[in-house]
Amino acid sequence: MNIGCHGLVWTGTFDADGIRLAVEKTKEAGFDLIEFPLMDPFSFDVEAATAALEEHGLAVSASLGLSEATDITSSDPEIVAAGEALLLRAVDIVAELGGQHFCGVIYSAMRKYMDPFTAQGLASSKRTIAKVADRALERGVTVSLEVVNRYESNVLNTGRQALAYAVDVDRPNLGVHLDTYHMNIEESDMVAPVLDTATKLNYVHIGESHRGYLGTGTVDFDSFFKALARIDFQGPIVFESFSSAVVAPDLSRMLGIWRNLWTDGAELGTHANAFIRDKLVAMESIRLH
Ligand code: MN
Repeated sequence: MNIGCHGLVWTGTFDADGIRLAVEKTKEAGFDLIEFPLMDPFSFDVEAATAALEEHGLAVSASLGLSEATDITSSDPEIVAAGEALLLRAVDIVAELGGQHFCGVIYSAMRKYMDPFTAQGLASSKRTIAKVADRALERGVTVSLEVVNRYESNVLNTGRQALAYAVDVDRPNLGVHLDTYHMNIEESDMVAPVLDTATKLNYVHIGESHRGYLGTGTVDFDSFFKALARIDFQGPIVFESFSSAVVAPDLSRMLGIWRNLWTDGAELGTHANAFIRDKLVAMESIRLH
């Protein structure tokens, strides 16, 4: 199982230097995998990333959140087409990097909506994601829909909603991506969503309730990791944390990262890697109970 770290723990700038730094630091902190934010896949330096991944022997995945200009739930066909092109390019990058997972808020814009989604918007989203999943299948990539809280999308706020969406689109490589930070806001508990989505759960984000140090907020990680063990989840499990100490302009502002919850990414990452692995070791022993 790959234990990973989101690139934004290390830098907000994903040019060649930023990519190299993030890969090096992720490896040094003890992780197996780095998740690159592909907010702008058209400018991503695949060559620099490939070289850095090879040098440090790290696995890779990628995620993104669509914007208003690329929102595939939009009633404007040009905006939907822009979203589709961006998602297809992102899938290609994951494949070119040798990755197997593409995830995030890829089914709508990642922003606070002021209205519920429309039936047409949802249909447009599913049509587009079906095409993205088809391209990804050809390239050996799994596509996972990240369930986020109500302030970051109006489409998928619970695991069961994401499961229904994925079942309806019905692609073998399309599944669900759960994030403990969002679950802590929207779900009934930290167990039921894991059990409910088990057949299609592909990807997990580990984030604290304030997105800082694991164990310093209100997320019930013990229950969540017990649930993962119960379904024999095989990963990836990726640590995600944000602080105003590291800023990616488009992503940090959308996520409301206004406070400085940590300053030392290396200390934070090392702590998170140990925290996740310790939970997995302990929960594995439940088989003996
Ligand atoms: Mn997340």
